[in-house]
Amino acid sequence: MNKKKYILLSLLLFGLAVSCKKENRETQSKVSSHVMTKEQQDKLTGEAVLKDFMEGNKRFQDEIVNVRDHTKHIGKLVTGQFPKAMVVSCSDNRVSVDDIFDQGLGDIFEGRVAGNFVDEDVLGSIEFACVVAGARLVVVMGHQHCEAVKAAIDNVRFGNITATLYRLRPAVNISLSFSGMKNSKNNEFIKLVSENNVRIALNDIRTKSPILKEMEDNGKIKIVGTLYNPAHGTLEFVK
Ligand SMILES: [Zn+2]
Repeated sequence: MNKKKYILLSLLLFGLAVSCKKENRETQSKVSSHVMTKEQQDKLTGEAVLKDFMEGNKRFQDEIVNVRDHTKHIGKLVTGQFPKAMVVSCSDNRVSVDDIFDQGLGDIFEGRVAGNFVDEDVLGSIEFACVVAGARLVVVMGHQHCEAVKAAIDNVRFGNITATLYRLRPAVNISLSFSGMKNSKNNEFIKLVSENNVRIALNDIRTKSPILKEMEDNGKIKIVGTLYNPAHGTLEFVK
């Protein structure tokens, strides 16, 4: 190869390398700078958000979640919020809602309380999320191995926890027809109580909030119940 050809080839390879680096940066930037806008939210349906969330949960299970630079998101969210969904979940530190659905800042309006029950305050938060902030999906997410459910089964009484656990008594009571051991050592019984607790929350949303019921009936929102399994990162639907 003569000197002229060598210089030309070197320049070509250098240009290619710069181009690839730039493309990589742009790809990364595209992923990391995304936040929900009003225009994007307007196009969403509850069904589409549910599909998006289930795909996110699959990525979470497969350990291929999207890369996000939350520092870049902060300034973009200061003028408004356009969440995709409202998620009611337990306060449990093993239940990280954004991670479970592989969503970023601004995507999920959350209501978290030990035992994921729906009282007046949580109901008000759901109405705010759907009516004011425009969320299209409501997810009530209980979880397996829930300490609050176990404590309710054991009828624990301690400080303000007594009042919190009292909210879970109906779920324990309607599970007493269970044929196996009905105590907090039996994971099958704990799971049944947790599922029934989600069912009660779904019923409370539909019967105690005519606003949300009407939105669901008119197809403006979708409401679903799920049970998260911290052992595998999986979700089961609860109906
Ligand atoms: Zn819990």
